[in-house]
Amino acid sequence: MRLSVFASNKKPRMKILTSHFNTKHNTAPFSQIKNADFKPAFETAIEIARKEIDEIIESTNVPTFENTIEALDFSGETLDRLSSIFFNLNSAETNDELQAIAQEVSPLLTAFSNDITLNEELFAKIKSVYAQKDSLNLSPEQSTLLDKKYKSFTRNGALLSDDKKIRLREIDTELAKLKLTYGENVLAETHNYQLHITNENDLNGLPEGAVEEAHSLAASQQKEGWIFTLDHPSYIPFVTYADNRELRKEIAIAAGKKAFQNNEYDNQENVLNIARLRYERANLLGYTTHSHFVLEERMAQNPEKVKSFLNDLLAKAKPAAEREFSELTNFAKQLDGIEKLEKWDGAYYSEKLKQKLFDFDDEQLKPYFKLENVLNGAYTVAEKLFGIRFIEVFDIDKYHEDVQTFEVRDFKENLVSIFYADFFPRKGKRNGAWMTSFKPQSIRNGKNERPHVSIVCNFTKPTETKPSLLTFNEVTTLFHEFGHALTGILANTTYPSLSGTSVFWDFVELPSQIMENWCYEPEALSLFAKHYETGEIIPQEFVQKIKDSASFQEGIATMRQLSFGLLDMAFHANDPSKINDVKSFEKAAFESTALYPDVAENCMSTSFSHIFQGGYSSGYYSYKWAEVLDADAFEYFQEQGIFNMEVATKFKEHILSKGGTEQPMTLYKRFRGQEPKAEALLRRAGLM
Ligand SMILES: [Zn+2]
Repeated sequence: MRLSVFASNKKPRMKILTSHFNTKHNTAPFSQIKNADFKPAFETAIEIARKEIDEIIESTNVPTFENTIEALDFSGETLDRLSSIFFNLNSAETNDELQAIAQEVSPLLTAFSNDITLNEELFAKIKSVYAQKDSLNLSPEQSTLLDKKYKSFTRNGALLSDDKKIRLREIDTELAKLKLTYGENVLAETHNYQLHITNENDLNGLPEGAVEEAHSLAASQQKEGWIFTLDHPSYIPFVTYADNRELRKEIAIAAGKKAFQNNEYDNQENVLNIARLRYERANLLGYTTHSHFVLEERMAQNPEKVKSFLNDLLAKAKPAAEREFSELTNFAKQLDGIEKLEKWDGAYYSEKLKQKLFDFDDEQLKPYFKLENVLNGAYTVAEKLFGIRFIEVFDIDKYHEDVQTFEVRDFKENLVSIFYADFFPRKGKRNGAWMTSFKPQSIRNGKNERPHVSIVCNFTKPTETKPSLLTFNEVTTLFHEFGHALTGILANTTYPSLSGTSVFWDFVELPSQIMENWCYEPEALSLFAKHYETGEIIPQEFVQKIKDSASFQEGIATMRQLSFGLLDMAFHANDPSKINDVKSFEKAAFESTALYPDVAENCMSTSFSHIFQGGYSSGYYSYKWAEVLDADAFEYFQEQGIFNMEVATKFKEHILSKGGTEQPMTLYKRFRGQEPKAEALLRRAGLM
């Protein structure tokens, strides 16, 4: 069927240019979409959205919550559905054509969203509603929506005088440039180093695959022997397995001094400038520091809370970390007579110790984790906890034959969600695993629009003789993404921008990480971890080994995570104008977490891309924060039974279904009866 039907007004009328498709359950009509449709559809959808915004602005009625805030949130529905279809395809089933379209439409979308957040007339209306907030009798959800809309303008400078607005734009432009340069320097320094080995003995200990890779890299440069680089797939095996300590030292130091060599790629000045501009930007907007600005929209709320969180965890985990470290030191001494354990020894002796303690591997476990069994296991867990069933259906359009489609129904047969599952790697799919959606949930004009949720993974494919057998890591990945999916599936909010996974980012990993816990519980594993040939349930001894190896050296790992979180806060929760020397500042920030001796020629801050290039500034703590949350929440299940319906219902009612409608801490306390405590994580990780 041809799609691009041109009507008499010469405007393309495409099947994708609507918020309601004429398909079963209003699902995306993938098989009818042509790549050529996208660009014109985006242009028209942006026009439609712009008109909807214009109507709000041009209305002569007194601004109210309904005609301004609510109308704004429900605007752009056609554009949203189009964007979700397009960008999901661009991640899961892309090609050169789609990528070229993405390059063309992304600037259009950025320009459109800037046009909204910088629109002064629109802000004036929102501000006038915001000024009446206390007398409007809003529900908690409405109140959150009003705050969110108002803040999306003020955090962007809407309240500033004109000259300050100009300064804000200057800072933003300057920061964007600095971040780019920072990243380019890290990349250049990563590529500027090679470890060239010509003596075969220097490869001792390395796995065959790593050696082969190094050999073909050397061959590609017309060189003899083997070349190792600072790219992770090359670097990590080398420091983990190479027996030659001097070479481990050489490559580890090279990795640690990226962009810290006083050459043209040095990042020390960039670090200071980024920190100073972020601080100035925050001050301009009325915040004490950059961290205050960032954390306002996080569950943690302020730097004091984050710092006390990190330091509390530090105090509690440090004894275990020191114990593990001295164990490792003794092990290295016994094995190789190492007197002082250095940074380049850590991965190497940890791996040796791990092999000694846990002599089992993924191959022994995989037969118990056939993909179909694991997926059914996840469905059974969801059915027992939340009363929903997953029914495979074959009459919903999909973008690739590997995709499976399901209707999710409750026990009264009501449709809860559509669910897509796309498991195997292929050309055109990016790496990793993620959850996404093709249609958000919302309640409009009294009708509860149910969502269309999807998970995309890259699992081991079945062969002609063997089904898809998952590694344990893939099993937890499936449960993790399934947890994100449940937030989408069970969403039950009025406004689309507060629905499902639209929550503060230090809260978004709670539902995903908590689901992973069921993979370690014999009661849950007995439901699905069955040998694909014999049907035998996974032996208890294997389950115990999985648990023990999961918490192997958790103390040391925790110190490392805390050190990064504390360094992040040191840079961003204080006035950075007082920092003179990046290295000594960093060394002081690391002092409380350090286990290994400092390496004078190394500096972390000059290649800490997470916080200086990516979006993690004042957010590194959230990795540990999310773990504390999920362990604390799961302990509640363990106390009452991992399939206890009462606890599960609370989790559904107060967390999964609520999205971002209220402060996460309020929601959490309603579920748990108290704020999260670090103890559950420490117990689970064997640190207490
Ligand atoms: Zn996640």
